[in-house]
Order: sequence, then structure tokens, then C-alpha cells
Amino acid sequence: MTYVVTEPCVKCRYTDCAAVCPVEAFHLDDEMLVINPDTCIDCDACVPECPVEAIYPEDKVPAQWQYYTELNAEKAASGLPIISEKIDALC
Ligand code: SF4
Ligand code: SF4
Repeated sequence: MTYVVTEPCVKCRYTDCAAVCPVEAFHLDDEMLVINPDTCIDCDACVPECPVEAIYPEDKVPAQWQYYTELNAEKAASGLPIISEKIDALC
């Protein structure tokens, strides 16, 4: 299983989550973070860190945001840079 970043992160990108991930599973694009499913170890550490509740385990992603599971995998595989520390939020 993996964890998935969903809609509330878009144009917000607080990045608190990336700072606690023990395996550098987060990648960064212009408007959100995504989780690499090949890297995530399902530790749950990032979930309570997100102030907008954007992160869900793959089997608990809300129905309207299901497509984010594939989106996270695609974006992570596209060569986006890894982020492992907090940077300024967009919102
Ligand atoms: S803490 Fe939440 S809003 Fe911030 S980058 Fe992580 S998932 Fe996105
Ligand atoms: S669940 Fe753990 S390993 Fe996966 S992205 Fe969150 S902090 Fe990283």
C-alpha cells in the first residue's frame, strides 16, 4: 500500500509532511506534493502533520479524489525533485 496526497494540498503545499517522512517519499511540483508509491513505507507519520488533511492511505482516499492515487504515482515517476524539508507554503 501507499499513501496519497489529494486535492487540499493543491496551491497550498505546506510541506510539513515532507519534513517527517523517513524515506524521502515526497516529490514537489509547482502546486502540490505527491508521494512516490515505490518509496512510501506506510508509516503514517505524514498524516497528522498535514494542516489541511490532504493525505490518506490508498484504501481510504475519499471517492471524489480517487484519481489522485494514479496522479501521485505518475507525477512521482516523471522525475520531479524529492523534497525532504519544509519550505514556504503557497497559501
Ligand atoms: S502538509 Fe499537506 S498541504 Fe502541505 S504539502 Fe504536505 S500534503 Fe500538501
Ligand atoms: S506514510 Fe510514511 S513513508 Fe509514506 S509518505 Fe507518509 S511519512 Fe513518508
